[in-house]
Amino acid sequence: MSSIKFFFPDSHDYVDPSFDFIREQGNEHRIRQRDDHYPHEVFSTPPYDGMLISKAIVDGTEKGTSKYTMAQRQRFFRQGAKRFMRLPHDMPLMGDCGAFSYVAEYEPPYSVDEVVEFYEIGGFDLGISVDHIIFAFESQAKVVRLVEGDELAECLRRRELTLTLADEFFKRAQGCGFTPMGVAHGWNPESMAESVVALQKMGYQRITLGGLVPLKTVDILRVLEACDGVRDSGTEFHLLGISRVENVEAYQRYGVSSFDSTSPLQQAFKDARHNYHTASGETYVALRVPQVDGNPALMRAIKSGKVDQDKAKVAERLCLKVLREFDQGRASQQQVMQALADYEAVMLVEPKKSFLKHYERTLEARPWKQCPCDICQQIGIDVAMFRGAERNRRRGFHNIFVLHEKLKLHLNRTVTVCDSQPGSE
Ligand SMILES: [Zn+2]
Repeated sequence: MSSIKFFFPDSHDYVDPSFDFIREQGNEHRIRQRDDHYPHEVFSTPPYDGMLISKAIVDGTEKGTSKYTMAQRQRFFRQGAKRFMRLPHDMPLMGDCGAFSYVAEYEPPYSVDEVVEFYEIGGFDLGISVDHIIFAFESQAKVVRLVEGDELAECLRRRELTLTLADEFFKRAQGCGFTPMGVAHGWNPESMAESVVALQKMGYQRITLGGLVPLKTVDILRVLEACDGVRDSGTEFHLLGISRVENVEAYQRYGVSSFDSTSPLQQAFKDARHNYHTASGETYVALRVPQVDGNPALMRAIKSGKVDQDKAKVAERLCLKVLREFDQGRASQQQVMQALADYEAVMLVEPKKSFLKHYERTLEARPWKQCPCDICQQIGIDVAMFRGAERNRRRGFHNIFVLHEKLKLHLNRTVTVCDSQPGSE
């Protein structure tokens, strides 16, 4: 059985290694990005097999979505992406255009030449062709729907455009230092498979399957089955934005060799419930202890006179103190719950929006105590606090670590199963 690689898409996600969780500040002389640490620098072993960088994140689009400062961008191109990100030399670096950022445009904002140049100067190992996402899909999950009329015409236009650009891109990439990857888009399994056939004819052996993010698992597997049906023996698939590792066995069967996803990182601070992930699949709510001096919503409430700043500061400090004592076994769960409830009361959290009932489970399990990752080992209960970027992002890194461990476990399992079958190689 083949291995499957997890690529982590970078969105300028790094943490300040000098951050002091007691004093709540880092080294004031630090230079952002240069002195900060990416996940592969935080853990003793990188929590992914490769990284993915989008042109849209580095260069922005016409509407200006770049996350890089001018100085960072110049350094990125001068040093090459791997040196800029201090990525291990043997770790593959994949590039794409970041098609989500221009999904509403009529056409992609970049020419094939611009994208090839981006991959060349950046020193990428793998480069994904210029594409335009198709979001309509004829789902068979719950409600069956048909794509027709104007919607179908737009799907056909986007697929044609993506394939024309892919053809041009493949020719331009010959002799360049990166392996070109084509993108297959479609609105049902059949149209996706047709894209795969067309890309293989152009010469592509690495094909990414796009537009799968909003799809239910049943639909993703239908797409994979159809694409596998037309797959040449040397063709490998990459899944864009998909991280459901429980399907690893099916991925392997259908010729998937890699995937990427930011969702474990994002869930740490964007999800209402699943903030802290564990290897068993259980997820936990993070403990909300917003910074009185740093949380925009709380600061607005203080300014408008709704929340008393002094009372909020006292409740915040008490929360932090009791949480730390709890982690050291010097405070009870009941005391922590009381401190969290008092802080919620000062912040005037509506009962409907209260997280108190979910905190019991997190405190009961104390999952960070069992996690072997460098972050949980080093910062303990701070990883479970929903509070500022330094904690929230570290919890995201922990989630990435968990995903990677789960992937390795699933892969090992499939290898063991195959080995133990009589006659298998
Ligand atoms: Zn951890």
